[in-house]
Amino acid sequence: MSQVYERVALIGLGLIASSLYWAFKRDDLVGEVTGYARSSETRDIAREIGLCDRICDSAAEAVAGADLVVLCVPVGAMDAVAREIAPALKAGATVTDVGSVKQAVIAAVQPHLPDTVHFVPSHPLAGTEHSGPRSGFAELFEERWFLIVPVEGSDVSAVDQLEILWQAIGSKTARMDADHHDRVLAVTSHAPHLIAYTMVGVADDLSRVTDSEVINYSAAGFRDFTRIAASDPTMWRDVFLNNKDATLEILGRFTEELFALQRAIRTEDGDMLHDYFTRTRAIRRGIVEAGQDTDAPDFGRTKT
Ligand code: NAP
Repeated sequence: MSQVYERVALIGLGLIASSLYWAFKRDDLVGEVTGYARSSETRDIAREIGLCDRICDSAAEAVAGADLVVLCVPVGAMDAVAREIAPALKAGATVTDVGSVKQAVIAAVQPHLPDTVHFVPSHPLAGTEHSGPRSGFAELFEERWFLIVPVEGSDVSAVDQLEILWQAIGSKTARMDADHHDRVLAVTSHAPHLIAYTMVGVADDLSRVTDSEVINYSAAGFRDFTRIAASDPTMWRDVFLNNKDATLEILGRFTEELFALQRAIRTEDGDMLHDYFTRTRAIRRGIVEAGQDTDAPDFGRTKT
């Protein structure tokens, strides 16, 4: 396959950017990749581990001459980064982002960009609880969805070219509008993360934590919650603050269901509980059948 872009700039050098870089280079999908992160510490680590062909000391320097610019910073930092890079963008370049929220990112980024560049927001449904420049790996996007969220008037060929790149790193792609994206992700990602944070917080509040019982005797369900609740605090703070309405709506529905289950337990309504769990089990089967997770019984707990 010929290279999809000659020059790419990665702004922010954490889990997603580093995974993109290793995937790009593994299959020679792009030419030179420049990179920039806010702290000199992260930039030094990137230089040390060979993350990016050239690490720059400013975001403007990194995007100069780039055909594709990928914003890989927390959602709350997109506005400032877009403002900083705007004057340095090459005419005809495509700017995309990988933010977990789309309406707020579009509102933060688009006003700063000159008319001469194409803005094509996107979002990989791929991640781990790890962050930072050392956490990336080339396989992160394989068989995962990479959602493309064109804005009004997005240039068709710019969208097509970006889609080719995301497919080349192994992702399945789909296009959807920003409002729909934010509502879907509130259900599938944002509310579940908040619930995991809450459950681990509840356990932490119990006095038994002090003698490590919660850690020593953690069962599989709780361990899965702790993995999710170990996700980056900055990233997730920004997700909730920027997808407020959709997340709150889902949490409202969640609370109603929780009350219904509470009542079923109190009234010993075993049929209701059994029916409910039968329905949710079918959802899990559907996810495994769609290839979005493995059915291995020790998933996530294998010691390698
Ligand atoms: P990460 O590992 O925490 O890395 C974030 C990077 O952004 C770091 O290099 C950080 O620099 C840099 N940064 C933070 N604030 C900045 C600023 N104001 N200016 C310039 N650089 C700044 O994050 P990530 O997991 O790769 O997430 C990046 C984006 O992808 C987020 O928008 C997130 O919503 C989205 N996303 C994440 C996942 C996931 O599971 N992690 C999945 C899909 C999408 P320093 O290291 O110098 O602080």
